[in-house]
Formats: sequence, C-alpha cells, structure tokens
Amino acid sequence: MSSSGNAIVFGAGGFIGSHLVERLKAEGFWVRGVDLKRPEFSPTAADDFVIADLRNASNLEACFDRTFDEIYQLAAEMGGAGYIFTGENDFDIFASSAAINLNTARVCANQKFGSLYFASSACVYNHHKQASVDDYTCVESSAYPAEPDSEYGWEKLFAERLFQTLGRDLKARVRVGRYHNIFGPLGTWDGGREKAPAAICRKVVQAADKTAIEIWGDGKQVRSFLYIDECIEGTVRLMRSDVDEVVNIGSDEPVSINELAEMAIEISGKTLTLNHVAGPQGVRARSSDNRLIEARLGWRPSRPLKEGIAKTYAWVESQVQAARS
Ligand code: NAD
Repeated sequence: MSSSGNAIVFGAGGFIGSHLVERLKAEGFWVRGVDLKRPEFSPTAADDFVIADLRNASNLEACFDRTFDEIYQLAAEMGGAGYIFTGENDFDIFASSAAINLNTARVCANQKFGSLYFASSACVYNHHKQASVDDYTCVESSAYPAEPDSEYGWEKLFAERLFQTLGRDLKARVRVGRYHNIFGPLGTWDGGREKAPAAICRKVVQAADKTAIEIWGDGKQVRSFLYIDECIEGTVRLMRSDVDEVVNIGSDEPVSINELAEMAIEISGKTLTLNHVAGPQGVRARSSDNRLIEARLGWRPSRPLKEGIAKTYAWVESQVQAARS
C-alpha cells in the first residue's frame, strides 16, 4: 500500500508520529513534521520540521503554505497510566489537547486538503463495560452512552466528534482511528510518561538476576498491545480507505500485565519474581475488537505480541546501557 504527494504530521516529534513520517518518506511523500520538539531517540525523516506550539492557531496557519494530500493530527498531551490516571494532570491534558484539536480543525476547515486523520484512543470506551476480565467489550459502538474513565478519554471523544463534524459539514475526507496501547522502539521508556510494555522492559533490564520487579496493582488487569509497525500500517490503510466511521486500530491478543511481565522476563533469560505494589491501573480489562476493521479494510493486525516485545526489549536494553555509559 503506497501513495505519494505532500503530507503534514502534527505530533511528528512523538513516538507514533516519528515512525509515521519515516513510512511516508519511504513511500515518496514530501513530509512536513510539526511538534513542540524533535524526536527524542532518532533524527526526523521529515523534509521540513517546524517547532511550534499548536495551542497557538497562528502557528498552525503558518504551516499551510501548500496543499496537503494527507494531514495527520497526532499531537496530544500524552502519557502512560502514571500520567493520565493519577488525576494530577487532568487540566493540562484536557485544555492542551482540546486547544490543539480545535485549532487544527478550524485551520483545516479553511484549507483544501486530500484526507485528514485524527488519532483517537481506546480510552474513549465506557469503563462500566470494562470492569471485569470475564465480560468486557471494545466494539466501536459501545463507546456510547459515554463514560470514559479519564479526562484524556473524554477529550478524545470530544475531538473525534469535532473532526467527524468537519468531515460531514465540509464534505471532507476525515478518518478517525482509535489506537489501543501502541508500543515499540523509539517510545518513551523512562521519566513517568512511559507505557506498560516499555516500563516493564526497563524494569526487567535494570533488575539484577534473582530479584523482583514492581507491578502496579495485582497485575491481573487485561490489555492488548499493538506493535508500532502494524499501527502505522493500519493508520495509512484507514487514511486511504472510504471508511468514515471510527475504527479500532489495536491488537485483539489480550494479556494480563503479569503475563506481559513474564514474557519480558523470559526474553531476558533472567529469573525474576513480581512484587505487586499500589499504583494507577485504569480499567480492569480492555482489548481491541477487530471485527469492524477486518470487515471494512479487509485487514487487521495479526503479529504475535511476543515478537514485538522481543524487539522492544532489545531497544530498551540498548537505551539503558547507553544511559549508563
Ligand atoms: P507522544 O507523546 O509520543 O506524541 C505526541 C506528540 O505531541 C509529542 O511529541 C508532543 O511534543 C506533541 N505535542 C504535545 N503538545 C503539543 C503542542 N501544544 N504543540 C505541538 N505538539 C505538541 O504520543 P504517541 O504515543 O506518539 O501518540 C500519538 C497520538 O496517538 C496521540 O494523539 C495519542 O493520544 C494517540 N494515542 C496513542 C496511543 C499509544 O499507545 N501510544 C494510544 C492511543 C492513542
């Protein structure tokens, strides 16, 4: 699947955005990346990289000196459970991301463009339908009636509706993907905003053999994790499709956090035990429902989790070693 033309990626300094820029470049696009910062772990592949705060609309307007065939809106105030579920960052999360999305939608509404993609999240789902590992759902329609468990999720729901309204009223091609826990190399692995796969890989790398690593909660909470390459594949496929309803982009291989940790421990070759401690956990169970993406795109993520964890473990290990030296 490939295309070419001009593309702009908001959030190009972030984890998914930097991989997406690489993919678009490989396909022959001229790419402009926009972010508060450049990618942390590798040089950007973008032809042009604009450092800008998207909470300021005039910064956005300045990015549109040409017509873009593809616009990707990935910029957000973002982090793992330790950032979005503590309640301490809610105002920043809501106000910053809402401003970014309102500005992006407003500026795009005044442009001619090919297609616009918005990165939503599985955090939009109603937490009452995710309270038990034996009975949970993430079928797209179950997001309503709405009751996300975080302000991050509420903002994403608001922004989904904002971009879909833009698509409907302006008869523009707008695509919305709900990402479920994306992981892989070049993702944040330290500092408080890292997600479970990178955090667990780091803990395992740093642990001495025959010791224990800390796991938040009882570790029985269930999630699915999608490797970055399949996330990018799903994103560009959705972008270039006729699908204007919201679609999950995630793995449907559910694992408990304990199982995820055991996987990383096995890859490391160490003998480690799990020490369960208090910490933010989010909903009890969540995994992507891939029936809609398969029906509408004729494609769904299919690679086994362990394969992605092995690649991520090796990358986190190299980062930990580089930080030590
Ligand atoms: P990320 O934090 O690595 O990237 C987000 C980028 O947005 C960062 O580089 C950040 O600097 C930038 N940004 C934040 N505020 C900005 C501002 N005011 N102006 C300009 N840039 C700003 O996160 P990611 O994992 O790459 O996620 C990309 C998108 O996908 C986000 O919208 C996120 O909410 C969504 N998403 C990600 C996941 C996941 O598991 N990674 C899951 C669901 C949804």
